[in-house]
Amino acid sequence: MLSLTKKLMLLTGLLLLCTVVYEVPSLSAAEKKHLVVIDPAHGGQESGVKVTDKAEEKDVTLAIALALQKELAKEGLYEVALTRDSDKTVSCEDRRKYISKIKPDVLLSLHINAGFGKNAEGFEIYYPGFSNMPDQKKLVKDGTKDAKNKYLNDSVRFAQIIQKNLDVLFPRKGRGLREADTPLLEGMSVPGVVVEIGFATNPEERKKLLTASSQSEIAKALAKSIKLFFQVTS
Ligand SMILES: [Zn+2]
Repeated sequence: MLSLTKKLMLLTGLLLLCTVVYEVPSLSAAEKKHLVVIDPAHGGQESGVKVTDKAEEKDVTLAIALALQKELAKEGLYEVALTRDSDKTVSCEDRRKYISKIKPDVLLSLHINAGFGKNAEGFEIYYPGFSNMPDQKKLVKDGTKDAKNKYLNDSVRFAQIIQKNLDVLFPRKGRGLREADTPLLEGMSVPGVVVEIGFATNPEERKKLLTASSQSEIAKALAKSIKLFFQVTS
């Protein structure tokens, strides 16, 4: 039981709280920033492909992710989160958990390609496959089918926009868009793509991937793609 004084104090407190909450202005749709997650693949003990004796995939993906974050910050329109911002090991499962928790408006995962001889070159963009969508009937039943279709369609659109913008940097070197489930994106309810930016095994592309000015060009092309993505989808 509470005494009358305590009851009154509580009531006054509640009234004050209501006034404060009531007076907090709510953000309009225009003021709300788009949440972007950039995923620099690999990190820490997981190096990815070897680029040179001194640099590995994890270093290049992080450098480009940080440059992209800087580019996006200039716009003032986005809130940008990285799955890692330093050289540390983050498992795919932890990345997925983080993404599911913060539910970004778009997700961009960065990798570097390698192999198929030193002549293999160009970027590749992966988006989640429609064929592996969860059971359609169940989705219709719980009313999420349209939402799932929307994020899959948005992922394709995002992939197409990135392709256009990277084609300018790597003329005629795009190896195309690929519909495939990747461990990071599989089953995620977020529009997202995985970009294999170029080949570490190709001497010309290796140089591009390692030069700060080229990394900045790539970051600018990706920032432009993100901007365009929100223009066409929202
Ligand atoms: Zn990789």
